[in-house]
Amino acid sequence: MMHSGHTPPTITVRCPATGEVIGSVVETTAEEVAKRAAALRNAQPAWEALGSRGRSGYLLRWLDWLLDNERRLLTLVQRETGKSWADASLEMSVAIDVINYFTANAERFLADRRVRPAGLANAIRRLRVQVRPYQLVGLITPWNGPLGGPMMDVVGALVAGAAVLSKPSEVTPLTWQEVVRGWREEIEAPPILDIATGAGEVGAAVVDQVDMVMFTGSVRTGRAIAVRCAERLIPCSLELGGKDAMIVLADADLDRAARAAVWGGMTNSGQACIGVERVYVEAPVYDAFVNLVTEKVAALRQGMDEPGSYATDIGAMVTEAQLDIVAEHVADAVAKGARVLVGGERVDGNCYQPTVLVDVDHSMRCMREETFGPVLPIMRVADEDEAVRLANDSDYGLSSSVWTRDRARADRLSRRIEAGSVSINNALIATFQLPIPMGGWKNSGLGARFGGAQGVLKYCRQQSVVADRISLKSEPIWYPVVPVRARAMSRVVRFFGAHDWRRRLGIGKNPNPAHKRPGAQRAGGSL
Ligand code: ADP
Repeated sequence: MMHSGHTPPTITVRCPATGEVIGSVVETTAEEVAKRAAALRNAQPAWEALGSRGRSGYLLRWLDWLLDNERRLLTLVQRETGKSWADASLEMSVAIDVINYFTANAERFLADRRVRPAGLANAIRRLRVQVRPYQLVGLITPWNGPLGGPMMDVVGALVAGAAVLSKPSEVTPLTWQEVVRGWREEIEAPPILDIATGAGEVGAAVVDQVDMVMFTGSVRTGRAIAVRCAERLIPCSLELGGKDAMIVLADADLDRAARAAVWGGMTNSGQACIGVERVYVEAPVYDAFVNLVTEKVAALRQGMDEPGSYATDIGAMVTEAQLDIVAEHVADAVAKGARVLVGGERVDGNCYQPTVLVDVDHSMRCMREETFGPVLPIMRVADEDEAVRLANDSDYGLSSSVWTRDRARADRLSRRIEAGSVSINNALIATFQLPIPMGGWKNSGLGARFGGAQGVLKYCRQQSVVADRISLKSEPIWYPVVPVRARAMSRVVRFFGAHDWRRRLGIGKNPNPAHKRPGAQRAGGSL
């Protein structure tokens, strides 16, 4: 190939906690995206032909490689994001769980379905529904989980037999680039997984090449992608933002609820779409709950720790822009009368102190917009009804949690909450149950991830196959129309289709003759 002489534009990647340059990636051009898409399409049929067992074999080899390189990969995650080692480690757990679950169940999930025919004339047919993958899936991901994020969705698509063109966030592209290299070069798997790097326009170029898009990110970008997919008439599955509510009722185990609020609100420095973003507490236990939470938040250790050390609880924020949003939400709340009980400041290393806000209400941005940072606003409510009303007063509806010792009350409450999942006496946990769907209502998304077989079938098209059990020379409805035969056929159909004897035999008065209906007259042209 000829060199054009100029070097392609690159994106420099820095560690948000230290500012240190840790690498760079090329901005993949639209032509190059198209070229990679074509190569992936070329390789896909052989991948599909391998069968789910063959494909699972490669995924399990990939898992071996991930585990053999765990420390190096998680160090890269940490340096791209400024996370604590504990938060980085969770990303490997996600990869392990997802690969093991989908490889163990792929054959069952993808099995052909034999179906009984319906209708008399079809009794001789053999019906089957088989699933075939979309040839090329586009996978576009954000920066909060450079390894775990794409892993949640790539596995289902690969197991299904699709090829995948992935586009990680421009802020954190290095880990995923290395993981894709591992697939292609280290385990020498078929070239059906590739990557394009760069910002939004590269993502848009990916959307223009693929047959189905799996996107995780902001509502704004998700909507733009959905519009483009509509123009291209291709499906998309969107996992967007959340403003997850936690409802603590007076009979809850308060200490456990407080621990969950702190972990659920602060994990990954609050940079999780399913993080606890607002808490509603019944008045009788409000003060006690706030005290417990404040005490636990004040004890959190913050900063990007050494690889393998597990020395801090929470790390830095991934981007300065997100840190600005967090600071704005806190300032806005304070200006409108909220009080900061602990935290409330930026600190070195692109960190925001874990923060508890009280005296908050729904006029404040921190109760309505996604904060995506380590901030826990807690609001006192009179009762269960007020808690539900406020929890549902949101454009988002991703997940939620309900805290009470009364199981029946929790179940009743779950049916009133407008969100894709409800955890009872736990936080965030519904999201990591691979056999059930995780999907957002309202602005939180379209479609769902995981959900047992659905986690693979979403990457597939259904194909119906019909074969006759016996082969006739001709079918009774084929040409020529023979009046005797046609009349007999229609009588048989009526006989078996009607529900009373008069209609079965076609005798007696027709209570509503066709010729008296105005529509029938017009159709008959008798006007
Ligand atoms: P975040 O604020 O979490 O980065 P975004 O929705 O902006 O959320 O970004 C998520 C992913 O979507 C990133 O990989 C980004 O590069 C990509 N992206 C941004 N704009 C577009 C677009 N118009 N089409 C496709 N992908 C895009």
